[in-house]
Order: sequence, then structure tokens, then C-alpha cells
Amino acid sequence: MLVVGAGAAGLLAAIVAAERGRRVVLLEKNRRPGLKILISGGGRCNLTTTRTGADLEAQYGARRGRWLRHALRSFPPPALCAMLESAGVPLREEDLEKIFPVSGRAGDVLEALLARVRAAGVRLVPEAPMRSIERDPRDGGFVVHTPQGAFRAPSVVLATGGLSYPRTGATGDGYAVARAFGHTLVPPVPALAPLAVDVPWVHALAGIVLPAAELTLRDASGAVLCVRRRPTLFTHKGLSGPGPMDLSGFVEERGGACTLAIDLVPGQSSADLDAALLAEAQRDGRRSVVHCLPAELPERLRATLVEVAAADTTVAQLGRAARRRLVDLMKALTIPVHRSLGFSHAEVTRGGVALAEVDPRTMESRLVPRLYFAGEILDIDGPIGGFNFQAAFATGRLAGLHA
Ligand SMILES: Cc1cc2nc3c(=O)[nH]c(=O)nc-3n(C[C@H](O)[C@H](O)[C@H](O)COP(=O)(O)OP(=O)(O)OC[C@H]3O[C@@H](n4cnc5c(N)ncnc54)[C@H](O)[C@@H]3O)c2cc1C
Repeated sequence: MLVVGAGAAGLLAAIVAAERGRRVVLLEKNRRPGLKILISGGGRCNLTTTRTGADLEAQYGARRGRWLRHALRSFPPPALCAMLESAGVPLREEDLEKIFPVSGRAGDVLEALLARVRAAGVRLVPEAPMRSIERDPRDGGFVVHTPQGAFRAPSVVLATGGLSYPRTGATGDGYAVARAFGHTLVPPVPALAPLAVDVPWVHALAGIVLPAAELTLRDASGAVLCVRRRPTLFTHKGLSGPGPMDLSGFVEERGGACTLAIDLVPGQSSADLDAALLAEAQRDGRRSVVHCLPAELPERLRATLVEVAAADTTVAQLGRAARRRLVDLMKALTIPVHRSLGFSHAEVTRGGVALAEVDPRTMESRLVPRLYFAGEILDIDGPIGGFNFQAAFATGRLAGLHA
């Protein structure tokens, strides 16, 4: 059998197939396999999560989560962890239920997988970019064309990834093949990318981190697309960090024209904030408003809030309307968002091969017998937190079991 693409999904498909006795050739476009594993999680590889069951499935959204159920339940995070730990990669849990290697080296994860690839007898062919795939008229199998020649096999697993971080080799090559075989593509858009924002005061806050802000993204009609309570970072280009990045796929899916509302103080109600300002005015009315805002907000941010609310005065002179504006800003700092920084900065691709055309129990195409899909080429993506590797490994394993 042929596996095209030696990323997380293709490596696991190749290992599992070879370990059950299949002769496996793994074609990789780059000189080195698994580049995305190496750069993932800031070079530390957040390979999965502690979440399991329905809670894990829900992270991919209702429809995609339902489709992934079999893959995730047959290879849940503890099974992935056990596989890596038994290969000599001790793991540990960090904040936000993330699992990393104890060593902090993504290279350890990749090396463990490559050792299994070698031990299982997989023939890994680097620098062999698949150009096209066709059915072999002689025996109904497949012919995969590469500059290194044609490779033939009775079954093929396409694990060429999506379009994000194209410098790692993910340039959407598998999409053209899927389409040529009659598959529908859900239009791929960048996801888990920083948000570009065209508001100067946002740029001026570059460097500020909000560890626990609550972000609500709405479309042009005001409908809520997503709510996240995750760290948020202001940058010279807009907003980054897990919270904003988790929202980017929704912005791109809608083609822009979204509004982000940041609740800077989710633990306090508007009434609490209003009462606190009134109390400050009673206690010491000469203090400037900027010093009367919640101390957990960074000073530069407080100064910006006062400026945007036109409330640069003493707290005693703060009128009712200005106080209202300030409280509203703290509960919903509203920023128009039209796009992300795109595929070059996106950790994952949303969209891809339509799930309805792939059997979720085997990863086999419902249109083309013996053609399989695994990993990010499929219309699957999850938020930051190890969910994308988990899906790639679990779907790769199923393809390896059945192809
Ligand atoms: C910067 C960054 C950080 C990330 N961090 C995390 C993280 O910490 N946790 C997490 O869960 N996810 C993370 N992700 C997402 C995760 O890396 C991907 O979802 C996952 O790697 C997808 O695996 P895949 O095997 O489907 O695709 P890929 O890893 O993209 O692998 C596809 C492979 O196919 C090869 N290929 C492409 N075209 C061809 C062709 N024509 N012929 C032959 N080979 C081809 C590519 O070279 C590549 O090796 C991160 C992504 C990025 C970009």
C-alpha cells in the first residue's frame, strides 16, 4: 500500500499498516518527514489533550465531532499517550489540559514515530512529491506519479495535510487529487491564525496579555459564532494568543465582517463595576479615573479605555454617561475583525475533503474503493490544545488498519 505524506497522519497510517503485515511505501515531498511535528507547540509538540469522550468530540464542533467519534473512541488520547510512552517518550500535562513530552522536545515525538516506521519495515521515500494519482487499468489499483518515478499499489492513503504553513510542505496537493476522483471540497480557509485588526489603539497595546478574557465573536447580523475564554495577546498587527487564534477560522469562514467583543473582567458584572467606580468617587474623588479601574487590567489598557470612552478626568467628575461607556467597554471591548493573518500564519486548515464522502469507521472514500484519507486533508479542525494532532493520529491509525 502507498501512503502519501509523512506527517502525523501518514506516519501513523504507515506504522499501523506495516505492523499488521502490509508492505508499505511512504512517499514524502520533503527531505525530512514530520516537519510540522517539529515546529508544533513552539517546538515542544502539544500532541494531545487530557479531554476524552463526548467532551473531546465536542471540541471539533457538533457535526465534525460526531463524524470523528469512531476514530477518537478507538484511539483516544490515553492510547496515543501510552503508545508514545512505551516508545520512550515520557509525557506530562500542562495548563489547559495540554499534553507535552516531559523533555519539552518535539523532536523526541518525531524520533519515536520514525523509529516505529523503521522497525515496522516501512519504506520511507523522501523527496518524492506526488504529482498525480490515477487508477491502474491493469489491476484496478493505483499509480502514484512522482519525479522519482511511478509507484503502484492496490490501495492509497492520502495524508498530504492542508494549506497552512506551506513552508512545511502542506500546499494542498491532495485536494486536487481528491477533486479529480470526484470528491467535494469544503472550501479551505485558514484557522488558528492571529487576527488582523485595523484599529490603531489595538496596535498601540502591543505586548499586553489578558490571561482570562472572554471573547465573543459575532457575524454581521449579530449572531454569536463562538465564545472562548482563553489568553489573548495584543500585537502590532492585531490580536494573537489561543483565544483570538481559536476564533480565526470562524472569521475566515464568514469571509470577514465580524465583531469581536472582549469581556476584560468576566468575573465582575456591569453593576459591580459601576458600583466600584461610584464608591471610588465617594472615597477619594480627586483620583484620576485611570487609577480607579480594576487593578488586574494593565495600566496601558486602562489608559486606552479611558481615552476611548472620553473619560479622562477625576473619578468625581465622571458623569453617568461616561461611567456607563467605561463599564460597557470593560464588559465588551468591541473590535471589528475582517480577516486573519492567513495560511502563512495558520496552524491548521478549516475545510477540506467533505466528511460525508468518507467512511468514518475506515477512512475509505465512499466514492473510490481503496482510496483512504487521513489527517488535516479532511474537513476537520479543532481549537488550540492538541486536538489537531489527536485527530490526525486517530484518523491515520484507522486508515492504516483498513487500507
Ligand atoms: C506552527 C504550528 C504549530 C502547531 N502546533 C500544534 C500543536 O502543538 N498541537 C496540535 O495538535 N496541532 C498543532 N499544529 C497543527 C498540526 O501540526 C497539524 O494539524 C497536523 O500536523 C496535521 O497532520 P497531517 O499529517 O494531516 O498533515 P501535515 O503535518 O501537514 O503533513 C502532511 C505531509 O504531507 C507532505 N506532502 C504534502 N504534499 C505532498 C505531496 N504532493 N507528495 C508527498 N508528500 C506531500 C508534507 O510535506 C507533510 O510532510 C500546529 C501547526 C503549526 C503550523
